[in-house]
Amino acid sequence: MDRRSFLATAAAGLFAPRARTLRADPFTLGVASGDPSADGFVLWTRLAVDPLGGAGRGGMPPRDVEVGWQLAADERFSKIVRSGTVTARARDAHSVHVEVEGLDPGREYFYRFRAEGRVSPEGRTRTAPAAHAETPLTFAVAACAHFEHGYYTAYRRLAEQEPDLVVFLGDYLYEYAPGGYTALSGKRVRTHTPGKCATLADYRLRHAQYKSDRDLQAAHAAAPWLAAFDDHEVENNWAGPVSSTGAPAFAARRAAAFRAYYENMPLRRGSLRGAALRVNRRVSWGALARFHLLDTRQFRDDQACRDGVRSGCDERLSTRRTLLGDRQWRWLEEGLRDSPARWNLLGQQIMMAHRDYRTGPGREVNLDSWDGYAAERTRVLDAMSRTANPVVLTGDAHMHHLADLKTDFDDPDSPVVARELVATSIASDGDGYRDRRWIADSLAENPHLSYLDQRRGYLMARLTGDGLTVDFRTLEYVSRRGAPARTAHRATIPAAPGT
Ligand code: FE
Ligand code: CA
Repeated sequence: MDRRSFLATAAAGLFAPRARTLRADPFTLGVASGDPSADGFVLWTRLAVDPLGGAGRGGMPPRDVEVGWQLAADERFSKIVRSGTVTARARDAHSVHVEVEGLDPGREYFYRFRAEGRVSPEGRTRTAPAAHAETPLTFAVAACAHFEHGYYTAYRRLAEQEPDLVVFLGDYLYEYAPGGYTALSGKRVRTHTPGKCATLADYRLRHAQYKSDRDLQAAHAAAPWLAAFDDHEVENNWAGPVSSTGAPAFAARRAAAFRAYYENMPLRRGSLRGAALRVNRRVSWGALARFHLLDTRQFRDDQACRDGVRSGCDERLSTRRTLLGDRQWRWLEEGLRDSPARWNLLGQQIMMAHRDYRTGPGREVNLDSWDGYAAERTRVLDAMSRTANPVVLTGDAHMHHLADLKTDFDDPDSPVVARELVATSIASDGDGYRDRRWIADSLAENPHLSYLDQRRGYLMARLTGDGLTVDFRTLEYVSRRGAPARTAHRATIPAAPGT
């Protein structure tokens, strides 16, 4: 069926018995796909005729809406390989999550939706290669997109590179009220929806605001995403059941944030489990790579020594402290041990490498990062040392970092277990800069770090059986639209011999 007959079918009233028509285009939030397997993926959209309409309902009527979807083997939709209908329920904020199965491995596909005679933008996605295939993979890594701090040009540039996959590691949105978090740049280019997010309606509305951005939509439409939340999708620096601000009824608030996150992201339907949201999962890319996505928020102990960047906190070293929680830790250890993949990529939120923020004698560490859970970091690094070619992918820091991960960061002779690639922010903290003195001091203080960059951007990595090449992409500004992206630094990590 071509586009014309697709429209004609819709217009001819496939859903005509209801005789209801939305008052405007409901596809204002774009389309997305995610979690590719060798035979399928999730397709997502959410209907909203007016994204900033009342109570996070996107201007939608309080009724369910039938949504058709099509999957094609070609960009012109001349070869439809699957199609179907799904109900966008009012109680799900009119979001849909279609899990497609039974497709060919290692193939590009195109998809679109329709609702009551309107057709969505088109998205590109792909299945993972077959289990035995060592097909190369190009993937982007991104994080931290504060809407007020900058335009999403980095998302646009990432989309233009057409990666096979986008790994998104948290702070997809921020919960703050307008002006509640001032960028390092001091600039605010646009304004959050009113109030700090606390209720389901607040989070839905905030997601709709972010999703309205065309550059963000382009990044979703370009490739399937592997997404996991960090703190700001709920609240700054929350930890397990604990609110960092002592927010009342935090359990209910967290559940609302999780629900809105699920409704707005291309996650599999089984992700949302009552008041919990499961994002730790494994995704295989043929024989080449296995992604181990972690959740470093939901199951962690509260930050040691009342959180912050501090010196002199012994509690952070306690072997009783956990970041992953016991179940996830065992799941990770098992997954690393049993992985048949040539590369094992841990996608997670916070800096794993030790980071001393105090120049000269003494040290100050960020207690929200793995430095605050140092014994568990050692356990994880031990487990990584027994798996093939481990690489850690990280968000949160609002700076690019390239780090060596070692079981003893104070010992220059401690072997390098893995490399850590930290993606700077898409927009958070606004226009970046290069403070050469500060960078030199930081590298001297942390000899296991080899690259630091305070500009906005993302990572673009090319993975083959032989090695991983990562481009640290940067933009000179985000306070105006249209910045070009360039590769400020390139690093190659060769596969270990004999793996
Ligand atoms: Fe952030
Ligand atoms: Ca120091």
